[in-house]
Amino acid sequence: METRLLNEDIQTQVKKALENMEEPVDILFFGTRRGKMREAPLPGAVCPYCKQTGHLKATLIPHFIHLFWIPVYRLRPLAYVECAHCKKAYEGSEMTPEMEQAIGMLKSQ
Ligand SMILES: [Zn+2]
Repeated sequence: METRLLNEDIQTQVKKALENMEEPVDILFFGTRRGKMREAPLPGAVCPYCKQTGHLKATLIPHFIHLFWIPVYRLRPLAYVECAHCKKAYEGSEMTPEMEQAIGMLKSQ
């Protein structure tokens, strides 16, 4: 019983540590991987920084924990919107509702 509790604790700790990692890691047969990049343009959206229309592109990169290279657990994906005109990238709370909607659509694909 004690051994089982300890194992679960280690599993939780490892999962937490991996969730906070920004870059993929590989520990032999276990680690994190990036999935296939998904992109979508925001044709009618205005860049809040340079005020240009039609240069924004939403990008979503899935991130997951793998066990023997089989995805077993989804981590927070890398999601951002970039402006091709001024090169500014928007993440998290910097995103406008329009950008969040584009990311949401990519997530549901
Ligand atoms: Zn811009």
